[in-house]
Amino acid sequence: MAKAQSDDLDGLAADDAAQRKRHDSSADSSIMGAISSKTCCVCGVDVHGRMRYKDSSGRYWCPSCNEKDQMSRQPAACPDCNAAMTRADLVEFKGTAVCPQCWEKRRASSRREEARIRAIEEEVREQEERKRRLKMIAMGFVVLIVIWLAAMSVFWLLARK
Ligand SMILES: [Zn+2]
Ligand SMILES: [Zn+2]
Repeated sequence: MAKAQSDDLDGLAADDAAQRKRHDSSADSSIMGAISSKTCCVCGVDVHGRMRYKDSSGRYWCPSCNEKDQMSRQPAACPDCNAAMTRADLVEFKGTAVCPQCWEKRRASSRREEARIRAIEEEVREQEERKRRLKMIAMGFVVLIVIWLAAMSVFWLLARK
């Protein structure tokens, strides 16, 4: 019973998938036709009838990708070691673009700094904890002394009778 039902469902699903696939493939081919004409080789945007750039190998570039490419080719210098390179070679570290070597150095030193801060925080926490424990012990002593005094006075009163 359950078997037959699931078979039916499978059959339906298969038919549905086949239909959808046929539909998709026809849609794909029409899109493919558009893609093969004029699209940006970087972001794939359709540049047909729009402002576009063409590189030496005949690929199209949309204006924004072209601008980004131009920007990345501009000369730049690493602010840490002064090495000359293009903007594309620089890697951003916390808002500053530096060369990959300096990026590594910055990351290593920031990790050391973080570790140092963590160690200090840990130290402070341990001190607080120690203080708290001392306070607890002192309070325990006070309570013991009060109990002892109370016991002694009761004992004293009983002994006097
Ligand atoms: Zn583009
Ligand atoms: Zn550098």
